[in-house]
Amino acid sequence: MSSERLTVFDTTLRDGEQAPGFSMHIDEKLKMARQLAALGVDVLEAGFPIASDADAEAVRVIATQIHGPVIAALARCNSKDIERAGWSLAPAERRRIHVFIATSDLHLERKLRMSREDCLRAAMTAVRLARQFTDDVQFSAEDATRSDPDFLWRVVEAVIQSGATTINLPDTVGYSTPDEIRVFFDGMINRVPSSDQVTWSTHCHDDLGLAAANTLSALAGGARQIECTINGIGERAGNASLEEVIMAIRVRADRMPFATRIDTRELYASSQLLTSLTGESVQANKAIVGRNAFAHEAGIHQDGMLKDRRTYEIMRPEDVGVPQATLVLGKHSGRHAVQRRCEQLGVTLERRELDAVYKAVIAFADREKTVSDRDLARIVASVRGPVSVPAVGKEPQPRPVAAPSAIADFSTTPAEMGYGHGV
Ligand code: MN
Repeated sequence: MSSERLTVFDTTLRDGEQAPGFSMHIDEKLKMARQLAALGVDVLEAGFPIASDADAEAVRVIATQIHGPVIAALARCNSKDIERAGWSLAPAERRRIHVFIATSDLHLERKLRMSREDCLRAAMTAVRLARQFTDDVQFSAEDATRSDPDFLWRVVEAVIQSGATTINLPDTVGYSTPDEIRVFFDGMINRVPSSDQVTWSTHCHDDLGLAAANTLSALAGGARQIECTINGIGERAGNASLEEVIMAIRVRADRMPFATRIDTRELYASSQLLTSLTGESVQANKAIVGRNAFAHEAGIHQDGMLKDRRTYEIMRPEDVGVPQATLVLGKHSGRHAVQRRCEQLGVTLERRELDAVYKAVIAFADREKTVSDRDLARIVASVRGPVSVPAVGKEPQPRPVAAPSAIADFSTTPAEMGYGHGV
């Protein structure tokens, strides 16, 4: 099956960076930009140069040093913004100016206090000016999904005539739903006379937890550029998460036959770098990149995984750059997993020893939530006497050492089989 090529537009350093707690210094942005280039994004939105001198400088440095992706910068529909964006992008091999203006009556009347006709004129003038700096001009109709479609298509046709090459229709406030946004794109693309001259783009926010779903639905409606961020960071609840959208397309290529340049093995590293630069980590159960995304604790699941990974794994952790799936030892673990982890640590247990170690592990996990390799080594030692265990992983903080007598006290042992929360 031939796959249609998508343009991946990353806005981690613009929409993502402007969220509270996520601002980065120039050298940090440059590090992140290098990783995004290694990941294979097509367009890298580096900032909003008019926002501050540091933002303009960051875009300029990225435009100078990062090769591969098109470097983009954001501008409102006025000459100062556009000239600043043009200056910041000047060193780039390939540059895109991204101009935007709100098109919903709510934003025009209450925020911008301008008429529809003034909006239309500002949009056309801005696109024409931006074209003087580059042939690659993206126009975004802010709050597009809440705009009057009759007015929106007039604006879009006018900016295409003025030279826009990408039309982005953002769901700025995360209000749309998957069925609605598909119909919305399909309708606009069919209605705008010059629609085949441009790439249509989707930019979704996660206020209702629908950003990734809406992004995929926009593709079904004809969008061919996806705007997203690493870890889904961005204004309020964030943007569509790049790793989620990319892996959905990859894992379900049978339903979404699209190709991208993304090297998925760089996803986890990208997530980790962003976390370390901003100090903001993702939740443990975050899809694709969360600590638990490939972890299995429940006994039934661990047993299945050890027999055939496909029983509980729809994608391989190594395909997204996670070193390996982890069988987390906890109170839901089964005997099989305890035995396997001991073997991985170089300890082969006899059947009677395994019974004792297993019971002690469950009792320990009841108190401590999880059992690290070091905890396991102590438990094994308490059962069979001291053993040498090969290097174990670093622990974030030392756990209190339970007295051997407490570990060996089996009177508190809970359910034996570890199948409590399996299905
Ligand atoms: Mn946004």
